[in-house]
Amino acid sequence: MASDAAFGVRSIAVAGMRHTRYGWWLEDAGPVEARAPLEGETSADVVIVGGGYLGLWTAWQLKRLEPEADVVVLEAGLAGHGPSGRNGGFVSTLWADLPTLRERFGDASAVAVARASERGVRGIGTFCVEHDVDAWYRAAPTLRVATTDTQLGSWNELVTACGEVGARDEVRVLSGDELSRRCAAGFLGGLELATSATVQPARLALGLRSAVLSAGVRLYERTAVTRLSPGPVATTVAGRVRAGAAVLATGSRTSGLAGFRLAHAVASSHIVLTEPVPDVIEALGWTGGEPIADARTLLHYFRTTRDGRIAFGWAGGRMGFGARPSRRLELDLMVVRAARDQLLRLFPLLRGRAITHAWGGPIDVSPTHLPIFGSRGRVHHGFGFTGNGVAPSYLGGEILARLALDRRDELTSLALVDPDRKLMPPEPLRWMGGAAIRRALIRRDAADAAGGSTDPVTRALVGVPRRLGLHLPR
Ligand SMILES: Cc1cc2nc3c(=O)[nH]c(=O)nc-3n(C[C@H](O)[C@H](O)[C@H](O)COP(=O)(O)OP(=O)(O)OC[C@H]3O[C@@H](n4cnc5c(N)ncnc54)[C@H](O)[C@@H]3O)c2cc1C
Repeated sequence: MASDAAFGVRSIAVAGMRHTRYGWWLEDAGPVEARAPLEGETSADVVIVGGGYLGLWTAWQLKRLEPEADVVVLEAGLAGHGPSGRNGGFVSTLWADLPTLRERFGDASAVAVARASERGVRGIGTFCVEHDVDAWYRAAPTLRVATTDTQLGSWNELVTACGEVGARDEVRVLSGDELSRRCAAGFLGGLELATSATVQPARLALGLRSAVLSAGVRLYERTAVTRLSPGPVATTVAGRVRAGAAVLATGSRTSGLAGFRLAHAVASSHIVLTEPVPDVIEALGWTGGEPIADARTLLHYFRTTRDGRIAFGWAGGRMGFGARPSRRLELDLMVVRAARDQLLRLFPLLRGRAITHAWGGPIDVSPTHLPIFGSRGRVHHGFGFTGNGVAPSYLGGEILARLALDRRDELTSLALVDPDRKLMPPEPLRWMGGAAIRRALIRRDAADAAGGSTDPVTRALVGVPRRLGLHLPR
């Protein structure tokens, strides 16, 4: 792939699977020609740092709201080649976070956020139609399933919360029999979340990149911002942008920046992908395109693709240290092997079929599980998607574009904007504590799957985040 070569990334074989840094979705989407880096000084109405979904949706929304606005995006690598181009492609609302939203903000504000998050699911579909982007957008409810007895009913709090706020239609409890008609993998029971979809994430990211370029946004790639001062002025190795407003959309790298060091933690998630197996999908009866996740804390998430593959992810990767990039966040052999084994355990029909690709990437884990948007003077920011950023970054783009243009409305009043700050512990405590807790969660999930119980130390570690008022990573 041309973009791999441009960045000197080799593809390597891992237990029979091919791993490229950018994952299979970007290979399928095809190579893109990198835009020139920024050289010299320039000015703009708005400078956006980071060309993932959040930065690109913000640029796109800015041009919709203010077609004449001069918008510059500075991207360290290639736009859309971070997690935005290689995630699981689940397009989800924030309804699953309703209990947390209520606890943090009260019922009315919680419902306003959850309803607003539906804009992302619908808006991405509309964007693909209007801009002729073939991102494999497919609307289908998400299934949360129990694979062990202890997972059964783990959704009760959510179901009760939806009932109490008058949003009963958002969720539906399903019996094991009902589930087996959607995907016959022996699930014991589950929950259907009504409003969701799947996409081919790289096709969406690159389609968005093209739309933004066509709208007249100036995109500079291979242009890492080394300093963002309140002016705002964005300084890069070879240039500088003075702007009326700046937007920070740097994903998991945000906590590397002064002022944001305690804002989020970094964990990793990995995906393995099968060869096309349309016969297996047919035999499972999994033909409705439903994205599925189990009810573990470090969840397994899986879906089908338009060309008949199964993509299977596991959020059990390691913690990052601060915002430091690390190969282990991009490719962790242990995590990949575990994900492959778990895939085969769940779908024995896949035994003997090729698992062709594996890749991973960093996740920006917010202390509350909820994304955070806000402003510090004329520098606006968004981060903390915690593994659910595909649709919420669309809403984030709408919010940040408004903040950058100083247009206040119901979206900029949502409780996700400038919430009371909750912080992560400092390093090295965050990394050490986070790693110990993640290992404990893996032990607990494994014991649960084997029908056993865990030791008191594991149980105590699993309870630490709650005692600190933090939400568990996923
Ligand atoms: C394996 C995996 C599976 C996932 N599955 C799902 C899923 O199924 N559904 C879902 O909703 N979410 C999922 N996610 C999360 C989702 O991908 C992210 O939440 C989303 O992509 C966040 O977009 P972003 O624009 O904030 O960040 P990113 O995509 O990380 O973009 C940030 C960009 O900023 C650039 N950047 C960083 N620092 C600088 C700098 N100093 N100067 C210039 N540019 C800079 C980076 O190069 C990058 O391109 C998954 C993530 C991973 C890793």
